[in-house]
Amino acid sequence: MVREANLSLVLRNIQNEAPLSRAKLAVITGLNKSTVSSLVEDLLSRRLVHEIGMNSVGTGRPATLLEINPMAGGIVGVELGVDFVAVALMNFIGKTLWSHKEKADPSVEQTKTINQTLELAGKAIAKCREMNLRLLGLGLAAPGTVDLQEGVLVFSPNLRWHNVPLRRIFSEHTGLKVFIENDANAAGVAEHLFGVMRQAKNFIFIYAGVGIGGGLFINGRLYRGHNGYAGEIGHISTMAESASGEPCLCGNPGCWEAYSNQRALIRWVEDGLKSGRPSLLPKLMSEQKEMSLSVDLIKQAADAGDQVAIDSFVQVGRSMGQGIAGMVNIFNPEKIVIGGTLSMAGEYLLPAVTDAVSQRAMNDVLKNTEVISSVFGHDASLFGAVAIVVEDIMWNPSSVERR
Ligand SMILES: [Zn+2]
Repeated sequence: MVREANLSLVLRNIQNEAPLSRAKLAVITGLNKSTVSSLVEDLLSRRLVHEIGMNSVGTGRPATLLEINPMAGGIVGVELGVDFVAVALMNFIGKTLWSHKEKADPSVEQTKTINQTLELAGKAIAKCREMNLRLLGLGLAAPGTVDLQEGVLVFSPNLRWHNVPLRRIFSEHTGLKVFIENDANAAGVAEHLFGVMRQAKNFIFIYAGVGIGGGLFINGRLYRGHNGYAGEIGHISTMAESASGEPCLCGNPGCWEAYSNQRALIRWVEDGLKSGRPSLLPKLMSEQKEMSLSVDLIKQAADAGDQVAIDSFVQVGRSMGQGIAGMVNIFNPEKIVIGGTLSMAGEYLLPAVTDAVSQRAMNDVLKNTEVISSVFGHDASLFGAVAIVVEDIMWNPSSVERR
């Protein structure tokens, strides 16, 4: 137990601070040098880390440096979107080796979407074997609440799926070790392992798209709560009534996400168009043969200077910031990272978010807190699906065989 904990400690420090020498690792971890050497030998034999030459800078003796071995193995990431499925094969540091995304129809039978996804996962696995890379596992990010113990998608409001045993289905079909996680939580883990939050210990990841999800990181780990459902920030009940007059898909009125998600953005644009404000959007829609408004289209209009589009992003950013201010007061995070579809329009959204947060959060709590965009854009959860597998290895390195 102690050895596994120390093995993980050394691996995680290499992950966060590489390139590192054994001597530096001993200083950081507080373990003695011979223990560190033996733990490093263990990690080398599992090919989770590798040596990358000598450090000749500074006054001390040159030392061999270590880093995470990018080709420790391949990981299959699966993202079940609301209207698409995406599958990728990535290496151990989250670099994409192969990926494919296709539309899925949320109104078709559940088994059809699952089979479509299994077929893509099969292709990723074949690709990995072709590259002669060992498979370290499969991660699945799903838009809903997940029972981590049982590996079941308990409820997805946007897919309207209940109690789907995704881990069993995917492990039976692929023979791999399968991990499943809520999409926003997974995306937050990606940010922590591969993205802009590598060194941050306390941060909030906001996943803004069809709904709004959140991953809360406390002391460097994802906070899962009592039943594993923590982070359903979109359903914070902030208003007496629903924004659209309809209840939220969770069944309640007044949820924060209804004012701050992509539907809210589209509602603001529609209101602007109905009131007769001039806009490029009707022309853009007919040129691109789009039947309905989308974040992408509204962003294109904003880029061309369309005031209806720009104002709508500002309105949504303001609502988003009001909710985030509450979270800042509760968690006092170092940073807030906004990912998901809406983060693609960060240049229009973020200033309004930042303004609202600084107006509403308590001054002392807010000090040195930054709101930034995710680097993963649309694919935050796909990287997240891979990241949950890497995260498990980071905490349980001996689950990976020596060879
Ligand atoms: Zn709700």
